[in-house]
Amino acid sequence: GEALAVSARVAPLGSRLVLLLVEDLTEARRIEAVRRDFVANVSHELKTPVGALSLLSEAVMDASDDPEAVERFAGRMQIEATRLTNLVQELIDLSRVQNDDPLEDAEPVRVDELVAEAIDRCRHAAGTKQITMAAGGTADLHVTGNRGQLAAALGNLVENAVNYSPARTRVGIAARRVGAPGGDMIEIAVTDQGIGISDKDKERIFERFYRVDPARSRATGGTGLGLAIVKHVVASHGGEVTVWSAEGQGSTFTLRLPETGTARAGDRAQQRTA
Ligand code: ADP
Repeated sequence: GEALAVSARVAPLGSRLVLLLVEDLTEARRIEAVRRDFVANVSHELKTPVGALSLLSEAVMDASDDPEAVERFAGRMQIEATRLTNLVQELIDLSRVQNDDPLEDAEPVRVDELVAEAIDRCRHAAGTKQITMAAGGTADLHVTGNRGQLAAALGNLVENAVNYSPARTRVGIAARRVGAPGGDMIEIAVTDQGIGISDKDKERIFERFYRVDPARSRATGGTGLGLAIVKHVVASHGGEVTVWSAEGQGSTFTLRLPETGTARAGDRAQQRTA
């Protein structure tokens, strides 16, 4: 509002430069607000498990003559500690993908290896829910970029597919090459038969810490950072991520990555401020 008023006043002066400066200031203020929100969110997310740990350790001390209670509290402490570890790890991952230029050590990465790694990462969780995982079309395909970042991105999508699906369903991963003006792209689609996502939530799930159902997400060890990491990785590789979903039926998340690509510098600059 304030910036608009200023630009209205300077416009008659015909000074393009001043207008640009005002727009820059507005953008700088927006970035600053996003940063402040992020710090507030991180603090809140850290406080929850730390607070629980502190209460639980008091409970353990009070219950020292009741071994069963001690064991119960210790078990819950372990869960909170795991949550804290996940959160710190994902914060480190997010900061890495936001700051490292993936194209500095870009290399051809085999899609079948990325897929096998992602499936491996979820094998345990999928096994306990009797979820079948199947992959197809990955042979002979590769994408170009930072191996670790690409593995993290696909791993997060497969992990979500398993986490947000009921027992005895199927998670499919399908890859294919599609032609594009700037060079061929590789599409990797992760499809689940899970709870799905409403149109309203679809717009927000890629934001840091956004969760449709915080309790459900926490129960599965979710931090709300996974899709933000995915979005950053694909954007800095010159790709994109899209989602199709129907509530109660399932979702498909599709990564589209350059086969031999060079992300355009403009995309990366834009990415850092997002
Ligand atoms: P989380 O750590 O909570 O999984 P993400 O950033 O990975 O965080 O995802 C954000 C939110 O998007 C999740 O909390 C969940 O509500 C929703 N979501 C992500 N993937 C799926 C999926 N495959 N099916 C249904 N909902 C999903």
